Amino acid sequence: MTTTQRHAEIAGGGIGGLGLGMMLAADGWTVRVHERSPEIREVGAGLYIKNNSLRVLEQYGVVEELEPHGTWLKHRRVRNAEGRVINEHETVGHRRCLVTPRQALVDVLASRARAYGVEVVTGSHIAGIEAGGALIDAAGKRYAADLVVAADGARSRLRNALGIKGSFRELDTLIDRFLVDTRSFTQDDATTEHWSGRRRIGITPSGPNQSYVYVVMPRGDAPGARLPLDVASWNASHPFLKAEFDILSQAPSTQYPYALVKVDRWSEGKAAIVGDCAHGLPPTLGQGAGLTLMNSYALMRMVQGRADIPAALREWEKTVRFISDSTQRWAVRYDWFSRQWPSSLSLLKPLVVGAFQHSKYLTEKLRMADRGLDLTPIGFAA
Ligand SMILES: Cc1cc2nc3c(=O)[nH]c(=O)nc-3n(C[C@H](O)[C@H](O)[C@H](O)COP(=O)(O)OP(=O)(O)OC[C@H]3O[C@@H](n4cnc5c(N)ncnc54)[C@H](O)[C@@H]3O)c2cc1C
Repeated sequence: MTTTQRHAEIAGGGIGGLGLGMMLAADGWTVRVHERSPEIREVGAGLYIKNNSLRVLEQYGVVEELEPHGTWLKHRRVRNAEGRVINEHETVGHRRCLVTPRQALVDVLASRARAYGVEVVTGSHIAGIEAGGALIDAAGKRYAADLVVAADGARSRLRNALGIKGSFRELDTLIDRFLVDTRSFTQDDATTEHWSGRRRIGITPSGPNQSYVYVVMPRGDAPGARLPLDVASWNASHPFLKAEFDILSQAPSTQYPYALVKVDRWSEGKAAIVGDCAHGLPPTLGQGAGLTLMNSYALMRMVQGRADIPAALREWEKTVRFISDSTQRWAVRYDWFSRQWPSSLSLLKPLVVGAFQHSKYLTEKLRMADRGLDLTPIGFAA
């Protein structure tokens, strides 16, 4: 280690911790990532990787490694209960999107991070964090660093330990995710959302042999929330998807509530919070990991060559946070629109969805994160 080499300690080996670790190490830092689980593991589901994170990941050779495991989408569509397309766009330019199994992304991030020299320690539970620059593990061992990062997810305990004021809130929406070994219903490289009443179903290819499906319903919809999937109940709301429901009812699934994290700041001294820990949001826009990777990249750039890390972290937040805040607001509106739109106005719902097809202003607001750092002085390239 040279005397000028700087060191970072990161708590959390998810997309945020591994991604930031990889980027800092590639920029010359020594980095240790602590993951409390015995292995780097993600839930069995697909992940939409949008332009903002693709622009970052391309710089580290990650996209090249991911491509064989994923599918480049050509279209995104929304269909109503009768199967009619009410919104459609090509997924090109800043709307491009690669879908991969989540595990493929964390595997590639972990392997690229290690290749850049990151030490990834599994089974390491971080119990404390100090703004002066240290992590403390559950056994009381202290890891001092020039930069420490809490990337411990939406239910973070470490952000509270830093005195950062914030809230974690579950919303009244549930989502079940399935990753199934068939492309029988996703042959055209398009992702389709099927809307019916207060339920939504998303179906997308996720690699050469797999499809990713999510079903979304209000918390109070007991038949909809039943697992294994209740074929009769879902068939009643979405009669065109019988073949899909038969497959899904046999497949393993995980159920999550939508969640929202709001915090008053993203750093304290030499400690930063990253990813869902800082800006957890409902997955309606497929941007949680996108924001995480984009903000991590911006953080790496802002601390480049800076001796005053606390000042660089404050500047980082000031420069990029507006994109995450706006995306959170629109992700919550999308959830509200699909879950709480009054039944008496149900005939108007497709018109509103259609309006987003034709209004450039609304679409650009909704999809601000896709352009990401191009909207800031940082940009995507050093
Ligand atoms: C249903 C659903 C669908 C989604 N779909 C998409 C999508 O399509 N596209 C997209 O961009 N985003 C999507 N997201 C969002 C995305 O999953 C998250 O934004 C992303 O995973 C956040 O990564 P993270 O590293 O911040 O947190 P996490 O993934 O939660 O990782 C935190 C890690 O920290 C570890 N940890 C926690 N506490 C400690 C501790 N004390 N010590 C050590 N380690 C600790 C945990 O074990 C975990 O590995 C979705 C989210 C959900 C819920």
